[in-house]
Amino acid sequence: MSELHRTRRTDVVIIGAGILGAAAAFHLAEAGHRVAVLERGAPNREGSGTTAGNLHIQGIHTRRPGQDVPVDSERFLPLQRAASERWSTVEKRLDADVELRRGGGFMVAETAEQENELHEKREWERAAGIATELLTGDQAREWLPLLSDRVRAATWCALDGYANPLLITPAYLAAAFRHGAQVHAFTPVTGIDRVVGGYVVHSGDRSWSAPVVVNAAGPWIGEVAALAGIALEMAPVVIQMHATVRVPPVMRHLVQHIGEGMSVKQVTAGNLLIGGGWPARPVTTAGRGTASMASLTGNLAQACRVLPFLAGLRLLRVWAGPLAATPDEMPVIGEVPGHPGFLVAGGTYAFTFAPLWGETLRALVAGDRPPEPIDDLGPGRLTRRTETPLRKGSCPR
Ligand SMILES: Cc1cc2nc3c(=O)[nH]c(=O)nc-3n(C[C@H](O)[C@H](O)[C@H](O)COP(=O)(O)OP(=O)(O)OC[C@H]3O[C@@H](n4cnc5c(N)ncnc54)[C@H](O)[C@@H]3O)c2cc1C
Repeated sequence: MSELHRTRRTDVVIIGAGILGAAAAFHLAEAGHRVAVLERGAPNREGSGTTAGNLHIQGIHTRRPGQDVPVDSERFLPLQRAASERWSTVEKRLDADVELRRGGGFMVAETAEQENELHEKREWERAAGIATELLTGDQAREWLPLLSDRVRAATWCALDGYANPLLITPAYLAAAFRHGAQVHAFTPVTGIDRVVGGYVVHSGDRSWSAPVVVNAAGPWIGEVAALAGIALEMAPVVIQMHATVRVPPVMRHLVQHIGEGMSVKQVTAGNLLIGGGWPARPVTTAGRGTASMASLTGNLAQACRVLPFLAGLRLLRVWAGPLAATPDEMPVIGEVPGHPGFLVAGGTYAFTFAPLWGETLRALVAGDRPPEPIDDLGPGRLTRRTETPLRKGSCPR
């Protein structure tokens, strides 16, 4: 049988080489599993390469502009704390510089109602063990004089930060490779058969068999699950980012808004990145989008209201990136009920959660208790009950 038609045996097949697939590959390979990562295109070209790259550790705002269902930001907090701890050691573990910066962050309020939300958020943070400080507008301006007079209150969290999205996923993949993982770029998964003891995953003429499959296909999780006969309710959403020209260092903090999606920070290269989940114009149902003028003007007007100096900077670039949204806007991680060994990882804020989800997937594969409780985040809530017919063949270890 030719090399092309041979089914390769491995322990885990990971579908998708964004940050989640890469983090899973690292943690699983480090634990001694044979891992094959199958990526449709070049790694890190989709959500993980177009992301804002913020490490959201204080409570997040509850809605992106245009988002129907609010995020349960209280539920996120223990996960954010656990992710924060893991980000602190990422560069050492991967032996890589990923421009990790923990410059801290403000979340600002402009109205009395938003100020009340900051108070409530702070109580949740306290309960979750995340240290934040409540500041008046003047106190916040003492720390960051660039903030406008419209800011009437803010919370401050020293743990908020940023990692360079163009560095972290490649660093995970390189570290996984050093531990023996195989990374196959330009290898789209085209079929998944359930067989005795596991799955056979096909890409054209080539196939891999493994007892465990990790579906980390980001916005295409639903499509990939469908190849295994699993109906998952997940939809691609396309949001956009704006970058100014490079300027000398002016601020090292992340600035967010409690009432509306907004995030602003200066990256190491000097550009100011402005985002906050504003919708781009979806061009295709496959999650490809293009910039929306309405979001551009809305996001920039809001950012200039909070940080007026931005109005003096030239805009260099606007881009749209896809992310995977669940109907309840919560992450999804765990095994699909009725499909032993078929794991799914994705959903919102996967950049922040990547080190935690990587470790969680390692624990799930080993049959260990995950580092944080995730029972409510499993894919069971997104499935319509399906049975995949067992194909002839088996999946020996
Ligand atoms: C503009 C923007 C800003 C964001 N800002 C933040 C932020 O500041 N902080 C934060 O925490 N989160 C943020 N997010 C969300 C976060 O970036 C994403 O949730 C995360 O990067 C998703 O990672 P992933 O690995 O799950 O998916 P992706 O990075 O999208 O990777 C999925 C991969 O699967 C591959 N694939 C798909 N189908 C197949 C197939 N059939 N076969 C093989 N491979 C396949 C794709 O090619 C892709 O490479 C943002 C997202 C966007 C778009």
